[in-house]
Formats: sequence, structure tokens, C-alpha cells
Amino acid sequence: MQPMRAYIGIGSNLDDPVAQVRRAFQSLNALPTCASVACSPLYRTAPVGGPPGQPDYINAVAALDTALTPDDLLQALQALETAQGRVRTVRWGMRTLDLDLLLYGQITRNDSWLTLPHPRLHHRAFVLQPLHDIAPNLSIPGRGALAELLAACPPQVIARLEPTATDPVNQAYLAIAISGWNL
Ligand code: ATP
Ligand code: CA
Ligand code: CA
Repeated sequence: MQPMRAYIGIGSNLDDPVAQVRRAFQSLNALPTCASVACSPLYRTAPVGGPPGQPDYINAVAALDTALTPDDLLQALQALETAQGRVRTVRWGMRTLDLDLLLYGQITRNDSWLTLPHPRLHHRAFVLQPLHDIAPNLSIPGRGALAELLAACPPQVIARLEPTATDPVNQAYLAIAISGWNL
């Protein structure tokens, strides 16, 4: 099978979220027949929906070239979530790792196990912004140009983590950049 370009939305708000996201970047690259081609900057995001009082999220997006089918890729993503301690309790509740299959080539499908593109990506600045950082010219099947979706997205509290010498969270981001994961 010809490799396909897939985009993975990554989120964490439990147990050292920056480290969780960093580990996810590495695990995605290590999946069979997969090669990571870009990792977005990390964003700190106020929680949207779910139970009140959750910690902020760390969000990012990875671009992956893969020969896995969409179903096999989603299964692999769920195995990575489990390996990083994801426990499913309340909807949109706190989690160590969430991996959403945002896009798989230009494929569209609509079933409860796997909907493509991800059914809520076009409402979410914490997805659209990092996706735009690594693929500004992308078109989202059925939704239109990514840049236009981002411009039309309602304002949300997201802050890009910039590397500084003092903030330990940002030092972790810097470590990612230095190790070559932030392309
Ligand atoms: P949201 O989907 O709104 O981001 P969530 O990520 O918290 O919420 P999960 O509990 O992680 O939701 O996933 C619920 C179900 O969504 C999964 O069992 C999975 O089969 C299904 N699903 C459908 N389409 C996708 C997709 N594109 N990527 C990931 N999971 C999907
Ligand atoms: Ca999600
Ligand atoms: Ca998910």
C-alpha cells in the first residue's frame, strides 16, 4: 500500500502533559510502517466541555506518513493511549493521552467507530492552529480551506509554549525542539 499522509491530534491534561505529548510524538514515529514528518508546537489550552475544574490541556498535532489502513491506525492510536495510562470514565474528562485521527488523506467516512475528517476538528482552535502551523495549505474534505476555518473559528484560550530558560514546561518544549521533533 502507498503511504498516506495522516494528521493526529494529541491532547493531555494529566500526569505531566508535556512529557505525555512528547512521548506520543516518539511513539507515533515508532508505529509499524509509520514515519513522523512534522510535529507542531505545543499549545496550552483551556478545557472545552467536560466536567468543570479540569486542568489545562497541552495540545499538538503530528503529521504521519503511514501504510496502515485508517482502521488499523485508529486501533494503534488507542493502544498508545492505553499504554500511556488512558482511562475512559466521563466524556471529555481528564486524560493522560488523547489521540484523534483528524485526517487520513482526503478520505471521508462517517461511522461511530471512525469518522473522517474528525467530526469536531473545524470548531476547535486548539486543533486548527497547530494543524495550520505544520500544513497551512491543507484543505479539509467537506469543510474547506484550513486557513479559512481557522479564521472563522470562535476565539478560544490557547497559548503557544515558547522555549524560555526558566519555565520547566517550556524547557520541555525546548528539549523537543532541540531533539528534532519540532520540525
Ligand atoms: P472528541 O471526539 O470530541 O475529541 P474524545 O476524544 O474525548 O472526544 P474519545 O473518548 O477519545 O473521545 O473517543 C470516543 C470514540 O470516538 C472512540 O471510541 C472512537 O472509536 C471514536 N472516533 C470516531 N472517529 C474518530 C476519529 N476520527 N479519531 C478518533 N476517534 C474517533
Ligand atoms: Ca479528542
Ligand atoms: Ca479521542
